[in-house]
Amino acid sequence: MITVTQATQILREHCTDWGTEQVPLHQATGRVLAEKLFADTDLPPFHRVMMDGIAIRWEDLNAYDSFKIVGVCSAGLQQQFSPKEGECVEIMTGAALPESFDTVVPYEHIQIANDIAKIESRPTKQFQNIHLKGTDFKEGAELALQNKKINAAIIGIAASIGKQTLLVKKLPRIIIISTGDELVSIDKTPLPGQIRQSNAWALLSLLQTIGLNAEIAHLPDELEAVISQLDLHQKNNDIILMSGGVSKGKFDYIARALEQLNCKTLFHRIAQKPGKPMFFGKLNDTFVFGFPGNPVSTLVCACKYFIPWLQTNLGIARVTPQATLQSDVTIKSNLTFFLPVIIQLKEGNIHAHPAPNNGSGDFASLAVMDAWLEIPENSKEIKKGFIGHLIPLNPLQHQYTPY
Ligand code: AMP
Ligand code: MG
Repeated sequence: MITVTQATQILREHCTDWGTEQVPLHQATGRVLAEKLFADTDLPPFHRVMMDGIAIRWEDLNAYDSFKIVGVCSAGLQQQFSPKEGECVEIMTGAALPESFDTVVPYEHIQIANDIAKIESRPTKQFQNIHLKGTDFKEGAELALQNKKINAAIIGIAASIGKQTLLVKKLPRIIIISTGDELVSIDKTPLPGQIRQSNAWALLSLLQTIGLNAEIAHLPDELEAVISQLDLHQKNNDIILMSGGVSKGKFDYIARALEQLNCKTLFHRIAQKPGKPMFFGKLNDTFVFGFPGNPVSTLVCACKYFIPWLQTNLGIARVTPQATLQSDVTIKSNLTFFLPVIIQLKEGNIHAHPAPNNGSGDFASLAVMDAWLEIPENSKEIKKGFIGHLIPLNPLQHQYTPY
C-alpha cells in the first residue's frame, strides 16, 4: 500500500498528451489553446479616438480656447482635413484620428454654439483621449495565450486577428464502466438485493463540469466477460474509468482481468479512507482508473486524483486550495482521511465546516458537502484552526499555478 503523496507522485510521472485539433471559433470556448497567436496588424491599427468630442492641434491651445468646427469625422473611415490655425473637427469614439490633429477634447469639456467649440476644461497633454497605433501590440507580436483555457477574452482577441478556427488540445476518449452483478440501469426498478448504478452518472457529471464527455458501460462480475470487454473498450478509449470490483472480494475481478490483459499496474491500494482499494494502471496506451464502488469512494478518488491528472494533461495549470477547519474533529482511522466539509468564504479565507452525516459514508454526506478536507495520517484529534488541502467536489475552473 502506498501513501497519498506517493500516489500523487506516480500520477504526475504518468502525465500524457493527446495531441491537438482544429475547432471552429464558436466551439472553442472551454478548450485549451494549443497554438501561438500573433497580432496581424498593429493594435490598435490606427490612432484610435477614445471619446466623442473634437479633435484639435495641441499647439493651437497656446493661442486659442475656442475652435471653429470645419468638419465631422466618424468611425470606420480614414478621413483627412487641412485645418487652419484654431480650427477643429467633431470626432467620434472609434474614429481614426486624421493626421492633421493630435489631441481630442470630449464633449463633456466643451460648449458648442454656432459651429464654435469653446473649451471649458483644457486637456492636460498632447494625444489625450487617443489610443495610439501599436500601443497594445505591434504587428507580429505574440499574444501570450498558448495553453490557456479559452474564455470570452481569448475568443475576442482571436476574432480581432481574424481567426476562424483555433488549434486546441484534443480531449481524451473516455468510457465509464460500472462493475457488479447487483447493479441495474437507472431506468429499472431494482429487485431485492439490487441497486441502480449511480456512480457512472456521478462520474459523467464530474467530467461534464470541466467540459468533457464519456460513454457509459457495465460489466458483470464474471472474469471472462470482464477480460473480453475491457480488451474491447481499451482499443477505443484513451481512459477507462471504473467503479467497483477493485477490492479484495471474491468477485472483484478487475485487477485479475487487467493482469491477464498485461495491464501495467502503476498503483493499487492507497493508505487513505475512504477509497483505499483505488487502482491506476496502463493497458497499452489506455489509462485505467479503478475506483472503489462505494459512491463516496468513487467521487473522492476521482476528485483527488483523476481530475487533477486530467487537467494537467490538458495543459491547465492548477492550484490545490487550502481551507481552515472550523471545529474539533476526532478521526477514527490512522490513514489519510478525507473529511466531507461544507465551505464558507469569510474575509477572503476558505472555512471548512464538517458536513453532517449519519455514519453510512454514502449519499447522506454527499448531499450536503462541498468538498473534502484532507487530514494527514495518524491525526486522531484534529483541532479547530487546522489548515489542510481541500478537494472540491466541483473541479476548479480557474487555475493558475502548475501542478
Ligand atoms: P465494490 O467496490 O465492487 O466492492 O463495491 C462497493 C460498494 O459500492 C457495493 O455496495 C456496491 O454495490 C457499490 N457500488 C459499486 N458500483 C456502484 C455503482 N456504479 N453505483 C452505485 N453503487 C455501486
Ligand atoms: Mg462489486
